[in-house]
Amino acid sequence: MTWLVCNDIFQTQAPTLIVVGCGGTGGFVAEGLCRLMVGRECRITLVDHDVVEEHNLRRQNFYVGDVGKFKSKVLAERLATRFDRPIDYSITPWTVLEDRQEGWHVFSPGQIIIGCVDNPMARRAIGLFVSRPTWGQWWIDAGNGRDYGQVLIGNRGPAALTGTFLLGPDLVYGLPLPTVQQPALLEPAPEAAPVDCAQAVAEGDQSSTINHLMAGLVLEYVRRLVDGTLRWMATYLDTANGTVTSVPITPETVARMTGVKVKRLVVQSTKPRPTICRQCGRVHR
Ligand SMILES: [Zn+2]
Repeated sequence: MTWLVCNDIFQTQAPTLIVVGCGGTGGFVAEGLCRLMVGRECRITLVDHDVVEEHNLRRQNFYVGDVGKFKSKVLAERLATRFDRPIDYSITPWTVLEDRQEGWHVFSPGQIIIGCVDNPMARRAIGLFVSRPTWGQWWIDAGNGRDYGQVLIGNRGPAALTGTFLLGPDLVYGLPLPTVQQPALLEPAPEAAPVDCAQAVAEGDQSSTINHLMAGLVLEYVRRLVDGTLRWMATYLDTANGTVTSVPITPETVARMTGVKVKRLVVQSTKPRPTICRQCGRVHR
């Protein structure tokens, strides 16, 4: 049995894509989203309060002339010009969300938060934002070390997962938040070991290729979520072993992860099973 994430909302609402973190992975995700959405309606917002530093040029999506400028601003302005579409940005830290009155973070149906952050505080803030009752946006979280990484998708805490699996059409409306799937995301990262190799120092604690791989995976999640063909909830990348492993969405997996019983997760439904269009590979009306 294959469970698909329901894309009903994207059939009536253009997606609102919010990229939180424009560093290694987020910068390439932002550009990839613009390509993915060419000719399609959507709203894109880039969030990052860091400025570009010289050492970022090796593995982030910036150029020499960007040094000293805000990452979100310089990227938003460049992509807006290149792709001829408006792109919003914010230089307010995501973690002070509660105090913020800007328009971009207000709930809109069809909102997808793409977390490309590297710290537990930002993930905690995103989790609180996404899991507010009735808001229903999706959170795709990317995180990586030097030669491994993971992409996770979710939108609810365990208490809100009741009845989110519609048996019959085999459609899914709710999945556990990335931080519920992997509670270690909320723990501080271990201290990096001291490095003495000049290349390692120059690159920081990540290789220059892993961010491209991570961005590709994130974009595949966004594409499938919007198109109605997403059937995984987690993907693990291991560049040391050369493997990509995805976790299929099943109520059993969610039950194991959250302790919520399968019979509480699943409800019978007479809604028709969506068909994937033979021409474009999407689920649409
Ligand atoms: Zn079609």
